[in-house]
Amino acid sequence: MSETRNIPFARPSIDDADRAAVLRVLDGHVLTHGPEGKAFEQEFGGFIGDGASCVTVSSCMAALHLACISLVEPGDEVIVPALTHVATAHAVEWIGARPVFVDCELATGNMAPSAVEAAVTERTSAILLVHFAGIPCDMTGILDIASRHDLKVIEDCALAVGTRFKGTHAGLLGDAGCFSFYPVKHLTTAEGGMFVSRHGDVAEAVARVRAFGVRRTGAGSARYDVPVLGLNYRMSELQAALGRSQLSRAEAFLEQRHRNFAALKRELEPVAGVRVLDVRTAEAVSSHYCLSVVLEGTLGERRDDVIERLKTAGIGTSVYYPQPVPRMEYYRRKYGWDPSAFPAACEVSDRSVALPVGPHVSADDACFMGRTLGRIVEEMS
Ligand SMILES: *Cc1c(COP(=O)(O)O)cnc(C)c1O
Repeated sequence: MSETRNIPFARPSIDDADRAAVLRVLDGHVLTHGPEGKAFEQEFGGFIGDGASCVTVSSCMAALHLACISLVEPGDEVIVPALTHVATAHAVEWIGARPVFVDCELATGNMAPSAVEAAVTERTSAILLVHFAGIPCDMTGILDIASRHDLKVIEDCALAVGTRFKGTHAGLLGDAGCFSFYPVKHLTTAEGGMFVSRHGDVAEAVARVRAFGVRRTGAGSARYDVPVLGLNYRMSELQAALGRSQLSRAEAFLEQRHRNFAALKRELEPVAGVRVLDVRTAEAVSSHYCLSVVLEGTLGERRDDVIERLKTAGIGTSVYYPQPVPRMEYYRRKYGWDPSAFPAACEVSDRSVALPVGPHVSADDACFMGRTLGRIVEEMS
């Protein structure tokens, strides 16, 4: 009988300071529109770097929607990766623009600049990219395309707290960045997100649309006008307080992720037939959301069997992402599905397994996962 453990794919890391922060808000009288939200915006800006304007929002989906409302026009084409969370494409759909899907690279899961370039038409107005599992895109190539074709760049940073390219944090490389604080991400506010931008005016416009499109015209809440169409995508003070408390541990969380990723990757090096998705150059720093392995050859065809065997050993897994977005029913029906168009995204969706490396995983667990996957591969070959 092989050793078993109980390692869930993800578990939010909530401590006493987090609980106290939320209770302090409940003991006060300001549940939204208050100092916690403002402070969280300031502190998140401080964390990701100079020149960031931040806006708390109710989710990453909300941030993506607001980014598209502010930077894209209905009827435009927006280049999006096929291998992403459906939220990325939904944001484009909701404003009446058209997502143009691009395949990924097999080594990183990210869109290759050459593929982005090939998708540009005269109707393209933006690139909405995703840093796959926290691995930064090749931003040198993508920003060069954007500047030559005058395109906006929106970064889906849902898994990119800690992702850097040439020293700059994700979200500040393009025109806007959208972060998620859903429970399984790097930091959590239960539900929540952050819109960030290097452009103060873009963040200001987004902040207005986030709160009904209101513009204050005098002191107090009774005097305002509404110059633009808006929504309510606000984050509550309870969530912001939790977010601030989580953010104070962000560096420690990232260190644990880096350490676990390195230990697990080392353990997998001698295992034949598994390929780890990771950065390829020194200028790219991953946030190590998870460790995705693509199973090669016939092992890849038996991916679900591998997942079952890992589960039997007590190892929780996930798949990023379960389907290329253009293969999902809504998009298939609307735009058609050509199985030959996205071979790499299909390979990652259908033949990969994501293993946990979050702060709930010990260094010893990381080694155990590597050993166990090695044993399973051996048993199955
Ligand atoms: C999780 C995720 C989202 C959605 O985030 P929410 O905060 O749940 O809206 C969007 N994009 C990517 C890449 C994600 O992984």
